[in-house]
Amino acid sequence: MKITRVRTHLLDHKLEVAFESASMRFDRRTHVLVEIECDDGTVGWGECLGPARPNAAIVAAYANWLIGQDPLQTERIWATLYNALRDQGQRGLSITALSGIDIALWDIKGKHFGVPVSTLLGGRFRESVRAYATGSFKRDGVDRVQDNAQEMATHRDAGFHACKVKIGFGLDEDLRVIAAVREAIGPDMRLMIDANHGYDAMEAIRLGQRAAEYGIDWFEEPVVPEQLAAYREVRTRQPIPVAGGETWHTRWGHREPIETRAVDIIQPDLAGCGGFTEARRIADMASLHGVRVVPHVWGTAVHIAAALQFMAAMVPSPVRNNPIEPILEFDRTDNPFRQAVITRPIDHVNGVVAIPDGPGLGIEIDRNALREFAPKED
Ligand code: CA
Repeated sequence: MKITRVRTHLLDHKLEVAFESASMRFDRRTHVLVEIECDDGTVGWGECLGPARPNAAIVAAYANWLIGQDPLQTERIWATLYNALRDQGQRGLSITALSGIDIALWDIKGKHFGVPVSTLLGGRFRESVRAYATGSFKRDGVDRVQDNAQEMATHRDAGFHACKVKIGFGLDEDLRVIAAVREAIGPDMRLMIDANHGYDAMEAIRLGQRAAEYGIDWFEEPVVPEQLAAYREVRTRQPIPVAGGETWHTRWGHREPIETRAVDIIQPDLAGCGGFTEARRIADMASLHGVRVVPHVWGTAVHIAAALQFMAAMVPSPVRNNPIEPILEFDRTDNPFRQAVITRPIDHVNGVVAIPDGPGLGIEIDRNALREFAPKED
């Protein structure tokens, strides 16, 4: 079995209402899928986290090392590609592009053996996971406090047990948002906050000290990912557990945050950290140090499907009759192609998402949707 073709598919949609996190503005939704084809006709799909066109360019650059390789040798290919760009590419787009390729190779491997990726990873501990709703960005032209509170109440009414709100826009407004959301969702729903590294350490500590009374499960990306000492300071000087990981790459990028307990919860992204091959090592490392793993997800159904396969195979922890189950990040923001790219959408029922059990990622791509959402030349 040999790889014969590597392609990328850009997806693009202009939003009617733009929105912002603390660190990024979204006027459009753009993502990139990776398609790898083999000489026996098997096709695998992956996705890269981050800017679509730069990721597509790096995937194209990696194609030289992929054509003619046996796609089942995922570890060997990972090492080959990583070594090819290692000296200039230990983190960033070289790894997010590699992640999309690795996911596609595991999809091929699952299809080849006729089993889900979760089986290849060692077996399925669960057939479904509870999802948490991610949303509440700052939308143009509306009052964020009211808007976020109303939105989170709709997620509660849809059955979600937990939700995450965006902060990092300024302490006073953020605290008003948190208070209004807690009031709107009631005392029982789990609530997380995500600053998208919009604070410095002193602000994050003050925010955490004042927000704790609203019952916050975790405080995500309080400060920029390069500042691990600041992470540790935030973790020790305010009461809310700290989470992070979506912008750390490979086992090396996750090692120090885990080993030095910069975070209580590590959030490796399948489409960013290095794919299944590397996410497994990161989860193993987290288990050595007692750090909880909650994968980060921000993409299309391909990305969601990859996260679900990984979560199916996560070893229950701690060892007891009712261990803490992994929860799926479920983006609720505007993105018409998120589920359209596959023939059978991955949706939630009362906040619970079933894990596909078909071969590979367990999904089928809708090529009409890829054409429909391809960038229009304008
Ligand atoms: Ca985040």
